[in-house]
Amino acid sequence: MSPPKPRRYSVRSRVLVTGGAGFIGSHLCERLLQAGCDVLCVDNFFTGTKDNIAHLVGQPHFEVLRHDVTFPLYVEVDEIYNLACPAAPVHYQFDPVQTTKTSVHGAINMLGLAKRVKAKILQASTSEVYGDPQVHPQVESYWGHVNPIGLRSCYDEGKRCAETLFFDYHRQHKVRVKVARIFNTYGPRMHPNDGRVVSNFIVQALKGEPITIYGDGSQTRSFCYVDDMVDALVRLMGAPDDFTGPVNLGNPAECTIRALAEEVLRLTRSRSKIVRRKLPGDDPRQRQPDIALARKSLGWTPSTRLEAGLKKAIAYFRTQVESRP
Ligand code: NAD
Ligand code: UDP
Ligand code: UDP
Repeated sequence: MSPPKPRRYSVRSRVLVTGGAGFIGSHLCERLLQAGCDVLCVDNFFTGTKDNIAHLVGQPHFEVLRHDVTFPLYVEVDEIYNLACPAAPVHYQFDPVQTTKTSVHGAINMLGLAKRVKAKILQASTSEVYGDPQVHPQVESYWGHVNPIGLRSCYDEGKRCAETLFFDYHRQHKVRVKVARIFNTYGPRMHPNDGRVVSNFIVQALKGEPITIYGDGSQTRSFCYVDDMVDALVRLMGAPDDFTGPVNLGNPAECTIRALAEEVLRLTRSRSKIVRRKLPGDDPRQRQPDIALARKSLGWTPSTRLEAGLKKAIAYFRTQVESRP
């Protein structure tokens, strides 16, 4: 049987968000609905939850489909944001083979879909494509320093292969692609148990439990608030077709993990003690995006300072901790 032919009836942009019930995806769905799009959220609920999108369900232009992107998907859409993939180390290492399949088979299926319906497609790639970087801050032209056989490889190499597929579909089939290299992003609706540093520290501080610093805490990250990230993703999708990326998206304000722990303690007024734990394998020493390209090409620059973003995240986690003690 031949695949269905593309059809177009609606005047609204029909936008597919894979991973739409996840942390970033749910904020993106919200933003696209506000912009008047018809939004199809596709998710297998591996790390995303219905709670993240409960407030959107029932809106006439929002639809949810439980589906795993490693299987083909036949729908009619104008734009695809491909976010489906567990993002936190504990989650993506839980079933590493499935993680690689999600990145690679998921990309093939979504690119096949984009090719058939002539949709524009954006890939949520990651700063992890740079691995443990030897160039600092990271620029898009840097090819990275990635271990192909380590604990993080299922995620890092899966995402790298997805980028390859995006550019081959672009060159070979003229698919209109956009590749966003997302750096550490935080905010409300992060999974409270996903083991990521911001959620861990806030939940530990609110519960009065020890704050677990892995290693000596001198490693660095640069944290971007989720609203800024969503703004960047929407701008990237709206950029001219000849702007494919890859483009770094993140907040260049770099801080050590120890400084983050101290800031969380200050803002939560917690009495939690800081304790040291073993540094996980292949943990990058330092990470900071060079966002000159995003500034120039998307006219984007993140505007939320760490303190303001952390306050919003803390308010969210407070409700989570209180409702699920
Ligand atoms: P998340 O885990 O909250 O969201 C991922 C979503 O994808 C979840 O809802 C999950 O259920 C869904 N999913 C996973 N596998 C799937 C599959 N096979 N089929 C359908 N749905 C599937 O993570 P997030 O932080 O919102 O990340 C979203 C995207 O952004 C991911 O692709 C991630 O790699 C990328 N990213 C995030 C960050 C960050 O700091 N949050 C940094 C770099 C890249
Ligand atoms: N695909 C999909 N939805 C579509 C079109 C394609 O899920 O609307 C999947 C399809 O199952 C295929 C993959 O995308 O395995 C790649 O499609 P492509 O057309 O590039 O390759 P082919 O069909 O020739 O394998
Ligand atoms: N980290 C930490 N304590 C925690 C969780 C994470 O010290 O409870 C460290 C981790 O080792 C890494 C940094 O914080 O150096 C960021 O970790 P995360 O998992 O959030 O993101 P990624 O390493 O993927 O950037």
